[in-house]
Amino acid sequence: MSFKPGEYSFETLAIHAGQEPEATTGAVVVPIFQTSTYAQEGLGKPKLGYDYSRADNPTRAAYEECIAALENGKYGTAYSSGMGAINNCMYLLQSGDEVIVGDDVYGGTFRFFTKVIDGFGIKSKFIDTTDVAAVEAAFTPKTKMLWVETPTNPLLKLSDLKALAELARSKGAYMVVDNTFMSPYFQKPLDLGAHIVVHSATKYLGGHSDVIGGALVTNDSEIHERMKFCQKSVGAVPGPFDCWLTMRGLKTLAVRMREHERNAIRLAQWLEEHEQVERVIYPGLASHPHHELAKKQMSGFGGMVSFIVKGGLEQARSVLEGTKVFLLAESLGGVESLIEHPAIMTHASIPKERREEIGISDGLIRLSVGIEAFEDLQKDLDAALSSRVTCGC
Ligand SMILES: *Cc1c(COP(=O)(O)O)cnc(C)c1O
Repeated sequence: MSFKPGEYSFETLAIHAGQEPEATTGAVVVPIFQTSTYAQEGLGKPKLGYDYSRADNPTRAAYEECIAALENGKYGTAYSSGMGAINNCMYLLQSGDEVIVGDDVYGGTFRFFTKVIDGFGIKSKFIDTTDVAAVEAAFTPKTKMLWVETPTNPLLKLSDLKALAELARSKGAYMVVDNTFMSPYFQKPLDLGAHIVVHSATKYLGGHSDVIGGALVTNDSEIHERMKFCQKSVGAVPGPFDCWLTMRGLKTLAVRMREHERNAIRLAQWLEEHEQVERVIYPGLASHPHHELAKKQMSGFGGMVSFIVKGGLEQARSVLEGTKVFLLAESLGGVESLIEHPAIMTHASIPKERREEIGISDGLIRLSVGIEAFEDLQKDLDAALSSRVTCGC
């Protein structure tokens, strides 16, 4: 590793870590090594250790080194999706172990813990991780992992990573943080004590809504060895082109995140004053219940904004169907702005009573604020908010 965290800043690492000019031609951009296998120099002598692309591929290795550096980590492994990365972490556990999982985690993660991994004798307990005492009380001698997302989706609740990491470590459990929403540009969980950082690279890391991918980063060589071994043994690996696309995205991560945040802050402040809006949820607002923690553990507030529109589902529908620049779609983290309705779209699998209980009301709208011109985003939302539902009677 010639471009190491600590020696170079984030912007420089994003462009150079793992990405030295290619040895034979000097190509400035890491080539797409679209090959499954490698001619060996002699019996049992693969060149530079490359023998088969499920095990290792030079394009993937460059990307893994880059994402590791951006998280201030030593080791990275890449997967064909965020869920593939999440799945790989489970190979640190055994039947009989318990996991404490945030009660407001990504729907796919919830489904994975409740409908896949529980069948293998791994029990999960869903706890509000914003409450450190509640997490502590949920630990049993069988608890081997604490799984945290912060901020959460779509309510943008924050958990204290430093306190939770200390707790997990004192209990001899792994602390895993899904850092998809903040990206390493705004939050570095390893620095706060986490063992593993998880990413859906589909979101901010790739950043252009054109690739599905996942990644894990750790500083612990034993964990990394297990992750690398299982990456190869299970095989949820990304192809070289997907690695190349994600790495291309990483080069502009810092610039994009700054723009996402600049637009998000201005929109959140403007929405807070809007007469059609009941409440705005954004960690960068002083009105956010975890604003102080946000300032302490993150270096920015990100590009996700949620708000509750007055008039419930009917009014929400007319806003969601009324925007032109904000596209009505699931997912997040791309350069284009997206708008979605958690109760009907991403969180529909949660029963209505439970949704209302945790705050996912029918008037709740989630924005993934892109990097278009702020004025266009504002105009677009304003027009949609002003298009009142007309009574058909
Ligand atoms: C999208 C997402 C995932 C799943 O990632 P995929 O790339 O879709 O498999 C996991 N966690 C969070 C927070 C996400 O937003």
